[in-house]
Amino acid sequence: EAKHLGRNRICMFKPEMNVLVQQRLQMEQAIRQGLINQEFLVVYQPQANVTTGQLCGLEALVRWQHNQQMIAPDAFISIAEQCGLITELDFYVFASVCRQISHWHAELTDVAIAVNFSALSFMDAQFVVRIHAIMAQYQIRGDQVKIEMTESTLMHDANESLLKMQQLRAVGIHFSIDDFGTGYSSLAYLKRFPFSELKIDRSFINDVCTDPDSAALVRSMISMGHNLGISVIAEGVETAAQLGFLAKAGCDDIQGYFYARPLSVEVCWEKLQHKNTALLLPVTGLSC
Ligand code: C2E
Ligand code: MG
Ligand code: MG
Ligand code: MG
Repeated sequence: EAKHLGRNRICMFKPEMNVLVQQRLQMEQAIRQGLINQEFLVVYQPQANVTTGQLCGLEALVRWQHNQQMIAPDAFISIAEQCGLITELDFYVFASVCRQISHWHAELTDVAIAVNFSALSFMDAQFVVRIHAIMAQYQIRGDQVKIEMTESTLMHDANESLLKMQQLRAVGIHFSIDDFGTGYSSLAYLKRFPFSELKIDRSFINDVCTDPDSAALVRSMISMGHNLGISVIAEGVETAAQLGFLAKAGCDDIQGYFYARPLSVEVCWEKLQHKNTALLLPVTGLSC
């Protein structure tokens, strides 16, 4: 550390780097305090079945209500990962979701809520124990929650990961591969793990109507998923034409602004009241 080198030594940090280091430290401290002050909240983005048009799931997404601002996860998740606070944050979100499930009990029949976990959280030695403890606290069944993780999570210790997944599958928890297609692992490798769902990354859906390569990739991800008995959901669906393409390609479920944005607890509750009504436009004729 530069401080230990004394006053007259050459400092490795340029002044402008110092500012960045200080900003980072302030951010860490703010996240730490934010956890204590309960400044983090959860919004819920509905997912719909392509065939029935009905709501079939929700994804829990964290937000940070800080200094009168609503901060999106891209601005703080990686910092929380770097300073070792992500596991606390992920379990804070998980507990908040379990509490919500116990309140929404009646509205949520057949609808699981998916929660994102960072690789670091999943690698924590207490991961499975902590999941069980929070579910027991709120009396949540395994089939009421789903765990989303990216492919990279499994790379650290495949055997350990498999064991943890098996322990949680045994109590009914399903797993989803998030951002699929952006990592380096093949589905052939991933089939060693008990995933129930594959989430095609938004970047492929974004240009599925304009880029033939993306269209071909999306079609093959859907059929590979189905060949392995895994259900396929597309994230980031914003247009009727994208939905039409996905319907033709046999995609099971969709998530995206076209169907619904991430919603506050209150607005989501409203939406759940009508969850058995088809809310998607008819897909016939709409395609690209
Ligand atoms: P993700 O898990 O892939 O979540 C989907 C992201 O896409 C969300 O961004 C969602 O708001 C956004 N999205 C959904 N539909 C559309 C669409 O039609 N168009 C566009 N342009 N975007 C759409 P968000 O909420 O900003 O979250 C970003 C990422 O932060 C998430 O990506 C996830 O990786 C991470 N994240 C969110 N909550 C948590 C959490 O509790 N723990 C951890 N570890 N990560 C989280
Ligand atoms: Mg996700
Ligand atoms: Mg995703
Ligand atoms: Mg994504």
